[in-house]
Amino acid sequence: MEYDGVLTDAGQDVKFGRDVMAHAIGAACIDVMDKSCTEVCPVDCIYEGGRKLYINPVECIDCGACIPSCPVEAITVINSQTEGMVELDNATFFTTVLSGRDEPVGNPGGVSFAGVIGVDTELVSAYQTD
Ligand code: SF4
Ligand code: SF4
Repeated sequence: MEYDGVLTDAGQDVKFGRDVMAHAIGAACIDVMDKSCTEVCPVDCIYEGGRKLYINPVECIDCGACIPSCPVEAITVINSQTEGMVELDNATFFTTVLSGRDEPVGNPGGVSFAGVIGVDTELVSAYQTD
């Protein structure tokens, strides 16, 4: 799997119109979901699936506040060297039609508008934890 954006050598993400690369949540969050990160996010852009949470790459302002809040160190910054499949899958949550839904989650403008999504990407739904 490859990153769902379009990265330049300068670290810009052309697809999402960002001048830095997105924060993302990795596999360590799966089936943990304590939501400490949502309490510190200033723009309410961490959305709740069924087994993990997902950071919206368009709405995230890359403040970094969520990183130290996570007890399992699941949150990282995606860059062109990122190889973690769950991290790279993060944006898929927003751009594909998830099971049981009629359209992509997209960019709702905050969790308060979208509510709990409650389903995951195919990768996370099938993910086997130890
Ligand atoms: S703080 Fe970490 S484990 Fe808890 S919901 Fe956020 S990313 Fe998942
Ligand atoms: S980096 Fe900041 S804006 Fe982005 S998800 Fe984390 S707390 Fe929210």
